[in-house]
Amino acid sequence: MEDVDVLVIGSGFGGLGAGVELKRRGHSSFVILEQADRVGGVWRENTYPGCACDVRVHLYSFSFFPNPDWSHSYARQPEILTYLERVARTFGLLPHLRFGHRVVETKWNETSARWDVSCENGARFSARFVIAGLGGLSRPALPDLPGLPTFKGPVFHSARWDHSVEVSKARVGVIGTGASAIQFVPHLVERSPKVSLFQRTPPWIMPRHDTPIGPGLRALMKAVPLVQLLFRWALYWLHELRVPAFVKATWLMKVARLAALKHLENQVADPSLRAKLTPDYTLGCKRVLVSDDFYPAVAKPNCEVVTTPIDTIVESGVRTRDGQVHPCDVLVFGTGFQVTDIVGQLSVIGRNGASLADVWSQGAKAWYGLAIHGFPNFFLLTGPNTGLGHSSMVFMIESQLAFVMKTIDIVLNTGARWWQVRDDAEASFHAAVQRRLQQTVWLSGCRSWYLDERGQNVTLWPGFTFTFRAGLSRFDKRLHHLEGVS
Ligand code: NAP
Repeated sequence: MEDVDVLVIGSGFGGLGAGVELKRRGHSSFVILEQADRVGGVWRENTYPGCACDVRVHLYSFSFFPNPDWSHSYARQPEILTYLERVARTFGLLPHLRFGHRVVETKWNETSARWDVSCENGARFSARFVIAGLGGLSRPALPDLPGLPTFKGPVFHSARWDHSVEVSKARVGVIGTGASAIQFVPHLVERSPKVSLFQRTPPWIMPRHDTPIGPGLRALMKAVPLVQLLFRWALYWLHELRVPAFVKATWLMKVARLAALKHLENQVADPSLRAKLTPDYTLGCKRVLVSDDFYPAVAKPNCEVVTTPIDTIVESGVRTRDGQVHPCDVLVFGTGFQVTDIVGQLSVIGRNGASLADVWSQGAKAWYGLAIHGFPNFFLLTGPNTGLGHSSMVFMIESQLAFVMKTIDIVLNTGARWWQVRDDAEASFHAAVQRRLQQTVWLSGCRSWYLDERGQNVTLWPGFTFTFRAGLSRFDKRLHHLEGVS
């Protein structure tokens, strides 16, 4: 059993950000446990062709580590992964990283007031604080389609892309038309003789306007860091302007709807294909996607958009409910992630032996998606209701980390045994968030991964990101309990 002050789980944006902040505050007794063999989180796992961020990268990156060298405004996955590796190296995190350490259980020990943490490989740790940077998009969702085991060709999920599969001679069936699929479908259509795209619900798609960042602008950003700072600042506020459309004046969405329909009209000439690709729900209810190459790709003659629901998978392809078999040699699932099951297989046991899975059996909730009553000195990064439909998650992570660091310092400096959020503070926070969500576009009647099986939105933050940050900007003693401190 190894003793540390702080144990961080995961090395994506959350875990690495936590490591950097711990270092900057002079903490040296911490480890970052990572199940894989390199850092990166989703940016390590998702290697599908076309994978890129769908928020402009000058905002979707750490404020404390600007990169003047981004090649595109929507950076590609390899570049973001390299950036995260640079973060780990630059901030001296490598000695703290333990690869091949998949945490299976973290259990509060009342006697020692520490967390006992066990890994699949047998390693065990005792930590005063746990920061869980598990990420919401780490566990692929693979639908249990009838007949799938009978399919004779390769089958894989977009987050587990099988690069050994040669698509240039294969007919490819793609299931799903979400954020990932619209990025890899153009690549498949360019290479494969036939792509059958099985669409359950058409997404709303806005123009992406991705631009390469020329050497001149890069040199300027490098020479005058203020330029990049101002650019980031401008991007931040431009994104915040979108919030009212999502949370209040959903009529604003009607304007965006016209822009999206125009985008479809400009890119798809065939009216029957356009009809298939036109959503029938309010724009914004599901994640709004950005793409300049998806519509042109699906309009190509070697791509077929199939809207008849899937009946079963057969040996040679996909049979739809009209009895037609669509021949496929390869099946690719772009079917998303298990987002609402936040801690997944990780067993988190808090005070009095309570398991987080049980505490959340009626729906996940946490104060600012971060603190859960009954789970002392435990911080969950990007937990319930912290997701965004309009801006960068890195902003949310940095907001949470500022509070985490403050709280750790308070516990250490006051001599408290432990800290936890008060029950009533957590409950009233949750009620307020759920109340605000009622008027939002996300509850306007579509099925989306934002909602759990009870139809409750446990995923998104219903407001401006600066209000989220403001709520975490100070440690209000009325909301928190410090054990052993009067
Ligand atoms: P997703 O947005 O959840 O899309 C899943 C797709 O699969 C949807 O079209 C869904 O249809 C379909 N689907 C699911 N189960 C199905 C079934 N049983 N039969 C037929 N179709 C089924 O997943 P994703 O595209 O992987 O993206 C997930 C999230 O990852 C995104 O929303 C985004 O937050 C993130 N992402 C981010 C980036 C980035 O650049 N930052 C890039 C890619 C992904 P329905 O709509 O009918 O449910």
